[in-house]
Amino acid sequence: MNYKITVINVENEFKICPSCGYKDGFHTMLKKEVTVTKWLFICPSCSEVFDIGHIVEKEQ
Ligand SMILES: [Zn+2]
Repeated sequence: MNYKITVINVENEFKICPSCGYKDGFHTMLKKEVTVTKWLFICPSCSEVFDIGHIVEKEQ
């Protein structure tokens, strides 16, 4: 898959899309990388993918 991931810094909440202004939250996805699994957020309106710095852990 070839898509751009936009890295942003979130202060209090992440609900409004910084690209298009959509204000009802995000779809989510997980992306496995070499050492971590990233938790990414996809705007339902403009489909931009955001990395707000979260990773997920999996139970063994
Ligand atoms: Zn958007």
